[in-house]
Amino acid sequence: MTEFSAVELIIAKRERGSLSTEQIDWLIANYTSGVVADEQMSAMAMAILLNGMDRREIRDLTAAMIRSGERLDYSGLAAPTADKHSTGGVGDKITLPLAPLVAVFGVAVPQLSGRGLGHTGGTLDKLESIPGWRASISNAEMHAQLASVGAVICAAGSGLAPADRKLYSLRDVTGTVEAIPLIASSIMSKKIAEGTASLVLDVKVGSGAFMKNIDRARELAQVMVDLGNDSGVKTSALLTEMNTPLGLTIGNALEVRESVEVLAGGGPADVVELTVELASEMLRLAGKPDADVAAALKDGRAMDKWRQMISAQGGDPRAVLPVAKHSHTVVATETGHLTKLDALALGIASWRLGAGRARKEDAVQFGAGIELHAQLGDRVVAGQPLLTLFTDEPERFDWAQAAFADGIEYGENAPSDRKIILERLSNG
Ligand code: URA
Repeated sequence: MTEFSAVELIIAKRERGSLSTEQIDWLIANYTSGVVADEQMSAMAMAILLNGMDRREIRDLTAAMIRSGERLDYSGLAAPTADKHSTGGVGDKITLPLAPLVAVFGVAVPQLSGRGLGHTGGTLDKLESIPGWRASISNAEMHAQLASVGAVICAAGSGLAPADRKLYSLRDVTGTVEAIPLIASSIMSKKIAEGTASLVLDVKVGSGAFMKNIDRARELAQVMVDLGNDSGVKTSALLTEMNTPLGLTIGNALEVRESVEVLAGGGPADVVELTVELASEMLRLAGKPDADVAAALKDGRAMDKWRQMISAQGGDPRAVLPVAKHSHTVVATETGHLTKLDALALGIASWRLGAGRARKEDAVQFGAGIELHAQLGDRVVAGQPLLTLFTDEPERFDWAQAAFADGIEYGENAPSDRKIILERLSNG
């Protein structure tokens, strides 16, 4: 490999130059091995955030991050594979009902997930609230479960895109998370290395999402769709609304309970709609466009798959879920329609109650979080219960309530109907 100087590459990007394929390969390989120092990579991340990268550079960066680790391969499985990735939102528990639902139709779902940091929850934290459930399984166990059950949700092993792991923690503490080239290469390097044949991206837009406006969300989605398809992964994206929480629950065990309601054929309409849309899109990409996914929620087939999936990883799907020691109900202060029920404010409140973590080594409270008694647009009467807060540490209630002091508004008229799916992007 040709040798370069990290300082020269940083200066080139600082001066809005474009980095060659060889320079990007060198940078990522040497950052992974520790030759390029964290402070140099921080400067590079900031230069990329400020000056961007063209499509070829983003492709090269993604490829270099994939090459930094192992690449899984499911070509030996009899079933086609499909996965979903969400850019993260408040109350976003869709992965839980989605993976078993898709598996009902003979499409295997290898879902490598993460833990939550900040106000968006992590899928693994939610599932770990089920007694006995194990997030860490070996590649061989994952393969065996995909062949027998058809769905796995587990922690990504440390061998997958280690360059991203290192770079992501650096971005987190240097104000460089929000760069589209860095987000796109981070997400897609992991998803391509994971070995899925098709992928649906749920790119969230709104106050509770990374992307606050639709133009930025569309740009991110298009870059990721192109990266996936260029690497041979059939990829499409839905842009979905995230100004208000999904469903009626925020917090780990609370969200598992709601997911089980959806798997039992009930649950809030918005959660059901998004689950059905994403499942249909995954099945379309996997060559099963006619699957009746709504029927599989109603007739118990998705629930059966869920129970098999949870049991296969040591969990007891019938166990009682953890409940917080303390609760506090907040009532509506006015009569009228809820015209604002802000996702970010409620996500922060749930995090303050103990449902999320501030540092990656922190533990979460499984029972902590918020249960909403009304959704955006609903008519409420002053004094009626609006939401209930849950935590093991009651001293957190005031701090949590302060987070949504400006996050709830009432009006005489109902807001226009909420649209969950804003746009679709597909190359195939
Ligand atoms: N999720 C990731 O995995 N990486 C990012 O950069 C942002 C969200």
